[in-house]
Amino acid sequence: MNKEVVFAVDIGGSKLMCGLVDRDGNVLKTEKCALLKDITIQKLEELIVGMFESLTSDGNYSVVSVGVNIPGLADPQNGVWVYACFSGISNYKISESLGAKLHLPIYIENDVNACALAEKVWGSCQDCNHYLWVTVSNGVGGGLVLNGEVYSGAFQGAGEFGHVVVEENGPQCPCGHFGCMEAVAAGPAISKRYFALTRVELPAVEIAKLARDGDEIALEVLKKTGEYIGKGLGKVASILNLEKYVLGGGVMQSFDLMQESIVNAFKREAFSSPNQCAKICQTSLKYEAALLGAAAISFRHK
Ligand SMILES: [Zn+2]
Repeated sequence: MNKEVVFAVDIGGSKLMCGLVDRDGNVLKTEKCALLKDITIQKLEELIVGMFESLTSDGNYSVVSVGVNIPGLADPQNGVWVYACFSGISNYKISESLGAKLHLPIYIENDVNACALAEKVWGSCQDCNHYLWVTVSNGVGGGLVLNGEVYSGAFQGAGEFGHVVVEENGPQCPCGHFGCMEAVAAGPAISKRYFALTRVELPAVEIAKLARDGDEIALEVLKKTGEYIGKGLGKVASILNLEKYVLGGGVMQSFDLMQESIVNAFKREAFSSPNQCAKICQTSLKYEAALLGAAAISFRHK
């Protein structure tokens, strides 16, 4: 009998990655390609269908459903990609449209919420029902899980950790406000802070390497980033009193270098006594988190 798998689709801001994932969270096969900013719905569907055909062409797998990460606002109940700021795509009935082409049920979720779900299904939150997943990469996103389910809020906007203001009169965020988490802690913000101190322009990943090699300025820049993150998590804790805060995304590969500053800032900010036992940890899903997220959305419906 063929192995039962789901087809996981991660639509990112600049790349598309698809894969076959089994029930135990093993990513069996993947394919990826770059996505242009002006991608159309038609072209995107062609790419997804092409990868589906290529990944399943050997006939060894039986695909039971499809999970799709939406890089923006999603309406999972109705299968609608509502809006994404990086492309012109909006109000796209992706479940219906892609379902007609792949002849499979299509389940969707916002990409960060999907990562939060993967942490519950295969990661470090299997026994945890109240937590926040945070992605820190080129932007900052949050996925909130309450009572074991993604909580999306009254207007689908819950968990927007990237837009918690942590620096009065700080730099402007893409959302228009000033001093948001995203404007001070995402990769581009790390690069800017390093540049301000050294006049050297480097991507965040290179700054992290320097910090690991003992460069004091690079380490200072990362610690400041950790302070912002801890401060933001502390604000969340005072309202929601969560059990865990799970940090993922490229910037968080330097979690060990930032951990102390994150925890100290958290302790300064959070209402202390009820939040003493809260855990702040790095994701256990590594760089496959997003694809596992797409798979988790799909398995949630099985
Ligand atoms: Zn913002």
